[in-house]
Amino acid sequence: MNHPSKRRPPLEGERFQVVVIGGGINGVAIARECARAGRRTLLVEQHDFASGTTSRSTRIIHGGLRYLEHGEIGMVHESLRARGRLLRERPHLVHPVHFLLALSDNTRRSSLTIRTGLWLYRHLGGKLGVAPSDMDKKKLEHWLDSGHRWSIFDFEDAQCEFPERLVAEWLIEAIQAGAVARNHMQVLAVDVVSGKVRGVLLRDKLSGKEEHIDATWIINATGPWADRLCQRSSILTQRPMVGGVRGSHIVLPGFAGAPSTPLYTEGVDRRPMFVIPWNEQILVGTTEVPDTTDPGKTQPANDEIEYLLNSLTALFPSSKISSHDIYYAFAGVRPLPFSPKQAPSSISRRHYLHDHADEGAAGMISVIGGKLTTAAELARQCAKKMGGRVRPPQGLALVSNAALDPLLDQWVLEVGEVGGVGETSARSIVEWHGRR
Ligand SMILES: Cc1cc2nc3c(=O)[nH]c(=O)nc-3n(C[C@H](O)[C@H](O)[C@H](O)COP(=O)(O)OP(=O)(O)OC[C@H]3O[C@@H](n4cnc5c(N)ncnc54)[C@H](O)[C@@H]3O)c2cc1C
Repeated sequence: MNHPSKRRPPLEGERFQVVVIGGGINGVAIARECARAGRRTLLVEQHDFASGTTSRSTRIIHGGLRYLEHGEIGMVHESLRARGRLLRERPHLVHPVHFLLALSDNTRRSSLTIRTGLWLYRHLGGKLGVAPSDMDKKKLEHWLDSGHRWSIFDFEDAQCEFPERLVAEWLIEAIQAGAVARNHMQVLAVDVVSGKVRGVLLRDKLSGKEEHIDATWIINATGPWADRLCQRSSILTQRPMVGGVRGSHIVLPGFAGAPSTPLYTEGVDRRPMFVIPWNEQILVGTTEVPDTTDPGKTQPANDEIEYLLNSLTALFPSSKISSHDIYYAFAGVRPLPFSPKQAPSSISRRHYLHDHADEGAAGMISVIGGKLTTAAELARQCAKKMGGRVRPPQGLALVSNAALDPLLDQWVLEVGEVGGVGETSARSIVEWHGRR
C-alpha cells in the first residue's frame, strides 16, 4: 500500500553501527541499550512495535515456578532478579501479585515437591510483601469442583498488564538516547559480503520504497521469525534456531466464582494453566503446540479453545461458562530454542545469542528464546557481546512492596505539582505513564 502523505525522511545510504531488526520487547530493549552506549542505532519493525509475540503472552513477570521442576534454578534465579528490577524501575506498570496455586487430588506433583519448590522460589526471589488473603482462598475453595480434594498454596509473583506500554516506554528512552526507530518497515534481506554483514535492504511499507543502509552490527531480534530472516538472506544455519511453540489464551467476562487474584492450576490434561484477572476480564491460558507456520498468521485452533474452556469448566463447574461467553481468543508463537526431541513444556525458556560468524555472516547475532521478564538483561548481554559499554542494571533486584508504595506516592506528588492537578488525577496519570 502506498501512503504518500506519510513520507518519512529517507534512510537510503545512511550508515549505522547497529541495526536491530524486530520491535518486540527484546529488539526495543537492545536498541535502547545500544543507543545508551553511544552507538548510532536503527530499530526497524515490520508492523507496529510490540505487535508480535510480546502482545500475545500471559503477561506475568516471573521466575517461572514450574521451571524449577526441570532443574533450571539458575534461569529462575536470573528471572527473579529481573522481576525485582522491573518492580523497582516500573512500579506503575509491573505490580506484585499474590498467586493462589490450586492442585486437585489428580495431580502428579506431591505435596512435598510443591512445598519444596515454593520454599526455593521464595528463597530465590525474596519477599514482595503482598499479603495472602484468607478470603480469596476460602472463596476459591468454595467454587472449585467439589468432586475433588484440593490443596491450595500461595506465592508471590508480578504482573505487567500491558507489556506493550513497557515497550513504548523503553522505545521512547531509546529514541531519547539517539536511536532512529521505524515501524512498518521490513527488512527484506541482510547484505553479506566476504563473510561479513554489510547492511540491510529495507522496504518502507508506508511508502512502498526500498532502501539500502550500511551497518556494522545486525541484531536479528525477530523472535519466531528469526530463521525466516536468515533464509531470505541466504545465511545457512546448521539447523533451525527456533522451534516455534504456539500458546493460546481465551478472554472471558468475570463469572460466578471467578478468582479475584491470579490462579495457577492444572488443565484437564494436568498441564499448568493460569486463570488471571486481567483488564477487568479473565484471561485463561495457555497451550503448547509445535507450530512452524507463519507466526504472523497464528491463530488458536478450535481444539485449543475447547481444551481451555473444558479445563475452566472442570475447575469451576457452577460457573455456567460456555463458548458463547468467550470475548475473544488469541495465540502467539514462543520462539523457543529448536529442540525437536523434547516435549514443548520441558524446552528451556532460557535465551541465547547465536553468533553467525561461523556461518559466513560475522557481525550478525540472532536472539533466541527468552521471556518478557528477562528482556532488559538479554539486551545487556547482547550489547556486551558487541563489545559495547554496558550500563549496570539500575536499582536493587530484591524489593518489597513496602518500598514500592512510597516511590509511587512520591511520583504522584511530583506529577501533581508539575501538572497542577489534584491527587486523584495525578495518581491516574502515574498509573498509566509513570513520572513522564
Ligand atoms: C503464549 C505465550 C505466553 C507467554 N507468557 C509469558 C509470560 O507470562 N511472561 C514472560 O516473561 N514471557 C512470556 N512469554 C514469552 C514472551 O512473550 C516472549 O519471549 C517475548 O515476547 C519475545 O519477544 P521478542 O521481541 O523476541 O519477539 P516478538 O515480540 O515476536 O518481536 C519480534 C518482532 O520482529 C518483527 N519482525 C519479524 N520479521 C521482521 C523483518 N523482516 N523486518 C522487521 N521486523 C520483523 C515482528 O513483526 C515482531 O514484532 C510468552 C509467550 C507466549 C507465546
